Amino acid sequence: MKKHNFSAGPCILPQEVFQEASQAILDFNDSGLSILEISHRSKDFVDVMDEARNLALELLGLEGKGYKALFLQGGASMQFLMTAYNLLEKKAAYLNTGTWSDKAIKEAKLFGDVTEVASSKDANYNYIPKGYHIPEGMDYFHVTSNNTIFGTQIKDFPTVDCPLVCDMSSDIFSRELDFSKFDLIYAGAQKNMGPAGATLVVVREDILGKVTRKIPSMLDYQTHIGKGSMFNTPPVYAVYVSMLTMRWLKEKGGISTIEEINGRKATLLYSEIDLNPLFKGFTATDDRSTMNATFNLTDGDLKETFDAMWKEAGINGLNGHRSVGGYRASMYNAMTMDSVGALVDVMSELERKA
Ligand SMILES: *Cc1c(COP(=O)(O)O)cnc(C)c1O
Repeated sequence: MKKHNFSAGPCILPQEVFQEASQAILDFNDSGLSILEISHRSKDFVDVMDEARNLALELLGLEGKGYKALFLQGGASMQFLMTAYNLLEKKAAYLNTGTWSDKAIKEAKLFGDVTEVASSKDANYNYIPKGYHIPEGMDYFHVTSNNTIFGTQIKDFPTVDCPLVCDMSSDIFSRELDFSKFDLIYAGAQKNMGPAGATLVVVREDILGKVTRKIPSMLDYQTHIGKGSMFNTPPVYAVYVSMLTMRWLKEKGGISTIEEINGRKATLLYSEIDLNPLFKGFTATDDRSTMNATFNLTDGDLKETFDAMWKEAGINGLNGHRSVGGYRASMYNAMTMDSVGALVDVMSELERKA
């Protein structure tokens, strides 16, 4: 039986994508070859890469606005250092909203002065700091749009007078934003876009080429832009499956349609967390993530019963991250309303039983 997969990452992808992606392993585009054995320089694959890069810009509404889309390797973690390597000349500002921001800050400090404008570390990152001040003369300001581990999400992004860099790994393509506000967006594919192994980078070209340090070819965005994201062998299959997922999203109606569905899924689950006396949310209500909901039981003694019940209902991946505990339900784009319904049913069933 197919599980309801609430895992935070790698995680759920659309069933239709799995179907098509598995067919391509056997015979890609009726070529008599597997996608895993064709040359990355073949027309069939160059078309995949071009379509993937175009779809990313199209879905974000950034076509013809001076941005380039790249599919790189090394995960979002590589972007922690690559952004600083390419953009940090003297000083940069960071908002610390969780483990991933913290890791990005650690890497940036290898390249220059880092000002942490605000942090919610003192409250185990259960809210998004607001009303902070960004000093003048920063090379860029870095934020994490959605905090996968803690379940918070930035709803309003500040207007800044320096480039805005955003780690959107866990909520890319999930909601409409004015994406032209951002100068560099990056996202590891394995949360909301595809399999692990590819990382999307969308960068406004005119912010590049300004640092004086020498940058190794593989870590220089301009190398990858110059070669159409094919400087070396790209992660062919991860790019292909990401492309299929973006096609799926476009056919569904794009980001505005999925945002509406994501909103309904989140409302269904958070209502249950709020109304069911056996559960409590982890985060400040205004900052709740529509992608990752973190919550716990009000009575720890019910843990064994609850865990057995959701496992019995075919639910997978509900345990919270070890730094938070409790539970985390990740509801990425491919998660259906039915799956969220299955979880809510188990939660209300527990209330009836207890
Ligand atoms: C998962 C995640 C990362 C780390 O991604 P990798 O691709 O494993 O390096 C970074 N930032 C956010 C917000 C994440 O959710």
